[in-house]
Amino acid sequence: MRITIKIGSNVLTRSDGSLDVTRMSALVDQIAELRRQGHEIILVSSGAVASGRGELKHIQHDLDSVDQRQLFSAVGQAKLINRYFELFREYGIAVGQVLTTKENFQDSEHRKNQENCMRVMLDNGVLPIVNENDTVSVTELMFTDNDELSGLIAQMTHSQTLVILSNIDGIYTGNPANPDSHLISIVKPGKDLSDYIQNTKSSGGRGGMQSKSSVATKTAEAGINVIIANGKRDDILVKLMNDRDNTPCTEFLI
Ligand code: GLU
Repeated sequence: MRITIKIGSNVLTRSDGSLDVTRMSALVDQIAELRRQGHEIILVSSGAVASGRGELKHIQHDLDSVDQRQLFSAVGQAKLINRYFELFREYGIAVGQVLTTKENFQDSEHRKNQENCMRVMLDNGVLPIVNENDTVSVTELMFTDNDELSGLIAQMTHSQTLVILSNIDGIYTGNPANPDSHLISIVKPGKDLSDYIQNTKSSGGRGGMQSKSSVATKTAEAGINVIIANGKRDDILVKLMNDRDNTPCTEFLI
């Protein structure tokens, strides 16, 4: 099966903003295991801005938001991909960095180039690690967030499944902190979830459950099975693929 996996900033960074290398390493172990089981993986990883911010703590932060995003992502993306490269190399897995912008999904020539780049990597067993090119993609040129990007990548690569990893088990019937709320395990096609979703953004990245839910709905409508799960749970990816009924998650059926 071809699976696009999106890892959110909240999964990869600690509360002080530094890169959680232990977590990254655990996720790399799981992805290597899924490849061993015969799955093809495309990774969409956030965390550039957050890890750049963690790296440049000493800098005076009187920069405007665009400057901050450009500076932090330039430094953070280098750090992020370097870690992935080294961690996957231990398994003999070659990875390649794909930095993209909204234009690459709109203009037909750009789209063709982007599609070809993904194809040639997959055909040659190289694991694509995709992120938005945050250094040049600013303000109105930006994707809504990496959830949107992951839905587009899943469709472009004809993935059968999209897994969106966040720091929560999935979509709840109310505020997850409230004991009366429960996790929604299955979302059938056409089901409207707007009554359940909290309109809060994630602290580390730009997304939130609202954006995850709308990306998941649209991507499932395009024929791709979508799963939202908690990337901080041990062995989550392997469990989702091998024992989903006993693994907390929200799955959007097609
Ligand atoms: N591309 C951003 C990063 O890597 C994350 C965007 C998002 O939060 O979805 O830092």
